[in-house]
Order: sequence, then structure tokens, then C-alpha cells
Amino acid sequence: MKSAIKDIWCKLNTSNCRSKQESPDYWQFLFINNLLTTMILILAAFVLINVVLYVRYEVVLLDGCIAIAATLVLLYLRRTNNVKAVSIITVVLIIVSLIVLLHITENRHFAFYWLAVFPPIAYYLLGRKLGVMITIPFFLYILIFILTRYRSWEPAPFSIESIFNICGVSIALMILVSHYESSRKAAYIALEKKSEELGHLAVTDSLTGLYNRSRLDGILKKEIAGTRKNHQSFSVILGDIDNFKYLNDKYGHLAGDIILIELAGILQKSCRDVDTLGRWGGDEFLFICTATDKEKVYVLAERIRSNVEQHDFKNANNITISLGTYTYKRGDDAYTVIKAADKALYRAKLEGRNRVAVY
Ligand code: GH3
Ligand code: MG
Repeated sequence: MKSAIKDIWCKLNTSNCRSKQESPDYWQFLFINNLLTTMILILAAFVLINVVLYVRYEVVLLDGCIAIAATLVLLYLRRTNNVKAVSIITVVLIIVSLIVLLHITENRHFAFYWLAVFPPIAYYLLGRKLGVMITIPFFLYILIFILTRYRSWEPAPFSIESIFNICGVSIALMILVSHYESSRKAAYIALEKKSEELGHLAVTDSLTGLYNRSRLDGILKKEIAGTRKNHQSFSVILGDIDNFKYLNDKYGHLAGDIILIELAGILQKSCRDVDTLGRWGGDEFLFICTATDKEKVYVLAERIRSNVEQHDFKNANNITISLGTYTYKRGDDAYTVIKAADKALYRAKLEGRNRVAVY
């Protein structure tokens, strides 16, 4: 029974909310949803009490109107998810309701109770600036209203001390919400920044700054899926530095790292904007060339090879690269594409290195 009620409550609160749970909008949506639902239930109870017990029709009319307005706002929120617009409408609805309530003699004291929680609600829904901008004129109006009419109220709904206490509670709540809201926002921004950094790290090779193997894998699978749909061809180039082990031995591993970084820059400059470049692993680099046929990919690979050969590396001489190209055919998957490019690369190495081999 308890879990069934919990399920219904969750559904009521989240069924129409497209925002993610981590987003501040999600929590604001939930807050307005709960606030309006509670308002409607309380007002419905007041309507019933006033009809059955007190027979006060002006109160029934007022509570009924506010309940209907709150229901319409709630429906609008669930339909559009427009949290910002509904926040403003809800605050205006509360202000209008409180002002009207304040003008009905028998119910004046209820308005004073609810005034205490108005500032934190306005602050939470509209943010620090707008919340304060709306609360100050509204409270000034209330103050003027009390000062000009207080003496003529018989009996007085509240003593002056009580009104001061309500103001104190209100200010305390506002400070509390303000502090909580600022720290929550700061934590959210820090979390978002960290998750962005982590997302970047997960797809990047830490040495060269190029895409890593897992990111290349994902892009290759996407490229294959896209090619199957639009029947366009694409090609890949797998490049591997020649005799890199020897270079490592001769100049040291650190110099080897610097060569890899420098080479990554040359490779990046040699390919087109539409191509994807990443470090496949060790001294191997993979290019994924969108909408590129066998002839075009050969020209591109040859340009890359020549650029590396002609580059004057700071830490070493005569650095060259061998490249194998492969153009996608129907029925291929990521594994067969890479396998074919690797075979072509192997042939380039066998035929003497510093060359391009086409599969
Ligand atoms: P080949 O021409 O046949 O490719 O010869 P090779 O010596 O380059 O042989 P291979 O490609 O198999 O060797 C790659 C070497 O790259 C082995 C490893 O020591 C080196 N290596 C792999 N990753 C790194 C790295 O991050 N930094 C450095 N400095 N060296 C690396
Ligand atoms: Mg090598």
C-alpha cells in the first residue's frame, strides 16, 4: 500500500517533467508542482468547511477562484514544462490571493500567517534579484496597509508584537533559503564542470590530446551506420611511425613522447576538417575520412606521409610514417574495416616503410 502511494506520487510529480534529475529546473518543477497541489487541496478543504460549517460564501468564492487558478497553472506547467513562466505566475497568484485575503475582515489573520513564508517562496522561484525586487514593494504595501488601518480593526487580528515576530520569521527564512540556494547552485556548477572535465578525459588521449581509441571506435561505428543509410562511401587511414622503437632507444623515451606530440600536430594539420583523427594506440594513428573514396584517400594519405617526411623534428632526424588505407564496402563492420587497413599498413612496412599502401 505504502509503495503504491509512493508510485502514484512519483508519477504525479515526474510524469511530464522532461528535465533531468540533476538539473535545477527539475527540482523547481517538483517544488511548484507540490506547492500548487498542496494549495489546491488546502483550498478545497476550506471551501468545504466554509460551505458546511460557516456558510461564508464570499470566502467560498475566493478560495474556489484561487483553487481553479492554481489548477490551471498546474495543468499549464505539466503541459509545457515552462518552469520559468510558471514560477512568475505562481508568485503573482500568491500575491493576489494574499491581498484579497487581507481585505476580507474575518480572514485577515490567515493572510498574516502566510505572509511569513512568502519571501522564501519568491526567492526560491524567481532567484535572488527578482525575488527581492518583488518582495520589497509587496511588503511595503502590506506595511502601509497595516499602519493605515490597524487602529480601526476591532478586534485586532494580531498584536503589533506578533506582526514583528512574523517579520522576523520571514527574514530568518529568507536568509536560510538564500544561503541554501547559493550553496546548492555553487555545488551544481562545480559538479557540472567536473563532469565536463571527466567527459573530456574519457575520450581524449592524455599525451597527444587527440581522440583516444574508445572515442575512435564510437565514431567509426557511427560512420558505418550513417554510410549504410545514405549509401555514401568513407575511408580510413591507419598510420604507424617507422622504427619508433629504435628512436626511443636512441633518443630516450621522453624524446619519444615529444615526437608523438609533435607528430600529432602535423597529422592534424595534414587532414581536412571533416576527417576524424585519433591515437589508435602506441605509435599508431587512425583517420576516419567521411565521404572519401579510394582515390581521394590515397591522395590524402600521400600528403600526410610527405608532410611527416619533410617536417624538421626538434629531437630527431628522418622520422617517417607508413600508412594503410581502406575504403568501406557493403557488409563491413568496424572490425573488418580496421583489419583491412592494418593489412594495408603491414604491406607498406614490408615494401620498405615511408609509403602508402591501399588495401
Ligand atoms: P615499425 O616500423 O615496424 O612500426 O617499427 P617500430 O619500432 O615502430 O615498431 P612498433 O610500431 O611495433 O613499436 C611501437 C613502439 O612505440 C613500441 C613502444 O616502445 C613505443 N611506444 C608506444 N607508446 C609509446 C609512448 O606513449 N611513448 C613512447 N615514447 N613510446 C611509445
Ligand atoms: Mg611503429
